[in-house]
Amino acid sequence: MTYDKHYYGGAWQAPSGTDSTAVISSATEQEVARVPRGTADDVDRAVGAARRGFETWSRVPAEERAPWLEKLSEAMKSRVPAIAEAIAHEVGTALGLATKVQAEFPIMMLGLNAKFLREAKLEEQLGHSLVIKEPIGVVGCVTPWNYPLHQVVCKIAPALAAGCTIVLKPADMAPLSAFMLAEAANDIGLPKGVLNIVSGSGRVVGEAIVAHPGVDMVSFTGSLPAGRRIASVAGDGIKKVTLELGGKSAFVVLDDAPFEKAIPAGVNNCMQNSGQTCSAWTRMLVPKSRHDEAVELAKAQLAKLTLGDPFDKNTRLGPLASAGQRDSVLGYIEHGKQEGATLVTGGGRPANLPTGFYVEPTIFANVDNRMRIAQEEIFGPVLAIIPYESEADAVSMANDSEYGLAGGVWAATPERALGVARQLRTGQVDINGGRFNALAPFGGYKKSGIGREIGPLALEEFFQLKSIQR
Ligand code: NAP
Ligand code: MG
Repeated sequence: MTYDKHYYGGAWQAPSGTDSTAVISSATEQEVARVPRGTADDVDRAVGAARRGFETWSRVPAEERAPWLEKLSEAMKSRVPAIAEAIAHEVGTALGLATKVQAEFPIMMLGLNAKFLREAKLEEQLGHSLVIKEPIGVVGCVTPWNYPLHQVVCKIAPALAAGCTIVLKPADMAPLSAFMLAEAANDIGLPKGVLNIVSGSGRVVGEAIVAHPGVDMVSFTGSLPAGRRIASVAGDGIKKVTLELGGKSAFVVLDDAPFEKAIPAGVNNCMQNSGQTCSAWTRMLVPKSRHDEAVELAKAQLAKLTLGDPFDKNTRLGPLASAGQRDSVLGYIEHGKQEGATLVTGGGRPANLPTGFYVEPTIFANVDNRMRIAQEEIFGPVLAIIPYESEADAVSMANDSEYGLAGGVWAATPERALGVARQLRTGQVDINGGRFNALAPFGGYKKSGIGREIGPLALEEFFQLKSIQR
């Protein structure tokens, strides 16, 4: 699978340079595809196309814009198997999960944004002012590799719905689904310059997008260091920025919770996509009196999550996305051992899987919340079980983090769980097994970011407000 052109201005465009990036399978360590490595020149042309596209797209009435999102979603449906396969290679996500979560779910969300647009209130009378929502302009989108299509859709779907045009740089490590999205846009004849994609590195293409004077807003998902850099470059140009950064989310298991349900749910949440999930509950807070019971249940649940080839039907947990990611996670596991946490299971590379970027799913118990493995985002299959003394102690430890993206609470009653959920400084909390909701805004408190994605409220990020007094 090879792509040798960028996509902008409604057509495939030859790159200005000659470099390309190899896409490496995380299971075989072999090259599976190649994409062009863009330059600042490519970005400049794509931004030009997006600016011209904005002139017309922003004036298309909402009721005519909405069906384009449905058409694009429809055109992506036949690509589900190809997308799932590509992401199983790129990220290591087990094929079954990749099909549902990495392909079908974002494609559904793409279409759902048509409904959000149709239901959006775009004008409002306040006193003698008519307040109208207008699209903010050209949006630069920079996305990571862990849920590559999902994170692209989280940005482009509401932005396009709002009437903005896009310049997207997908993650260098997992760019293939973005190219398939460009193919789908091309197939349906999406108006020129609405969706523009330049692949390449963050340092070159990402920076050029963020710094470009023709870009009005930047929407970024990824790490805290890159987010900090992007916010400062965008700040220099007085551009709006939304940031979806990391997390170190806490799952608070209260003393009266049904542990046989709660603990396995917590383990599954932490381990999804082999822990390469920004919202993962990587800290499990349990009452000290029931710590050992929680550890046994967690260990038993983890034993059910088979590690292996993402293309094998029995696999729940695949390899990590890259050698760099594997080594970084192994480094954290060593920190955990040195910091004095109890290694319950896992702790290294699996002997039976010498090829591929595998790390054994790992549980540490008796973790102190101040340890590095409890404070820093590991982005791998590593769970920290942390004992607490009282409910107040649990809340204060859950909040003792520079992040605040997600979290969970489980108690005997929904009332008690809700009472604790209200005290957590975090953007999302699932109580007593509450499921993910494609209507609910998602985003971070504190250093987990700025702004919200997903659901009807996500459109608001891409509007400007104009007040007309009459
Ligand atoms: P990253 O380095 O933050 O990269 C995310 C995206 O930003 C990529 O497209 C990257 O380009 C680009 N980028 C990097 N520096 C940039 C800059 N100065 N200007 C513009 N764009 C820039 O994240 P990553 O390398 O994918 O993963 C590293 C760590 O980030 C992970 O270990 C994890 O802790 C965290 N992470 C968090 C999330 C989340 O959802 N919150 C998602 C993924 C990763 P390249 O393609 O060249 O890298
Ligand atoms: Mg990077």
